[in-house]
Amino acid sequence: MRERIETLWSKEKTPIVIAGPCSAESEEQLRLSTRMLNDLGVKVIRAGIWKPRTRPNTFEGIGSPALQWIKDIKKDFDVQFAIEVATAQHVELALKYGVDVLWIGARTTVNPFTVQEIADSLKGIDIPVLVKNPINPDLALWQGALERLSNAGITKLGAIHRGFSSHRKSKYRNEPLWQIPIELKRLYPELPLIGDPSHIAGTRDLIESVSQKALDVNYDGLMIEVHPNPDKALSDAKQQITPATLEHLLNTLQVRSATSDNALFLSKLEQLRDKIDEIDQELIQILRNRMEVVDELGMYKKDNNVTIFQLNRWKEIMQSRGKWAEDAQLRREFIEDIYKIIHEESIKKQTSISEATTTNK
Ligand code: PEP
Ligand code: MN
Repeated sequence: MRERIETLWSKEKTPIVIAGPCSAESEEQLRLSTRMLNDLGVKVIRAGIWKPRTRPNTFEGIGSPALQWIKDIKKDFDVQFAIEVATAQHVELALKYGVDVLWIGARTTVNPFTVQEIADSLKGIDIPVLVKNPINPDLALWQGALERLSNAGITKLGAIHRGFSSHRKSKYRNEPLWQIPIELKRLYPELPLIGDPSHIAGTRDLIESVSQKALDVNYDGLMIEVHPNPDKALSDAKQQITPATLEHLLNTLQVRSATSDNALFLSKLEQLRDKIDEIDQELIQILRNRMEVVDELGMYKKDNNVTIFQLNRWKEIMQSRGKWAEDAQLRREFIEDIYKIIHEESIKKQTSISEATTTNK
């Protein structure tokens, strides 16, 4: 997609690439990042100035001095800069230093008071504003933030999909839950939607697949964290990539002509896979609970000198489970096969308990 890098809100709907470090760390780092990215054709550089960090005593951004770096670097390169704003004061400073694009972070989108303050501070100013999805999977909150900015007169609005926090264990740092941004796109077809594979992935190795998926469902662009020396980055080190990796990525990604049909298909597919993941997690939890009872049973049998394997009980299990399966419209043999494996594991478990207890005595 290299040759397709374009500016946002252009008439031709080609994907835009916004790239740059998670945080501006020094003027040299920002200048070097800008030079390397500019060489790749990137026209919008991202850089966090004020960083919303989960824990205190971590790097919280350079703050306003970095705005002067941006102003100076812009004199030497044909690029625009995008930064995160979280307060009306950030907006005021960003405008004073000629920042080109603002974005609202995921932790800010959740707070309607703050979003309203930011919107009020932007009245009468037509700067592009991108709104990241809220941390929690709440489409209305995302919509609400976009509406507040729209009501304040912002016309160059866009949305950034950076994934959602989840209690579920996942390979992603933030669960993509693709159906939510796709629903936003269905509601507002004209609103540019940008994928943030870096914050969804959380690790470098997933960035390509998340980016490709975003393009497959017809996103308008990608925001990617790029650092000249990612391992040394002061924030989000694991997910940042080098400019060379970005170049490879841009050469690899395919811009397919996605139809709304295949976007819907992929969204539905994702939804169903999410459901299966959830059910499998419950299933595993239930098997674990069962094994805990088996442990207890093993101890009890041992204390009472009862043999582990009891043929009658085993026959009864196979019979009752087979019947329950049929009642639930599942094939008897399918459930019997599963129980053979479960029973084997239970016997193994009880045997090891019995042996352990014996040696301890
Ligand atoms: C960021 O873009 O570096 C950032 C803090 O993102 P988010 O608001 O998505 O957590
Ligand atoms: Mn980051």
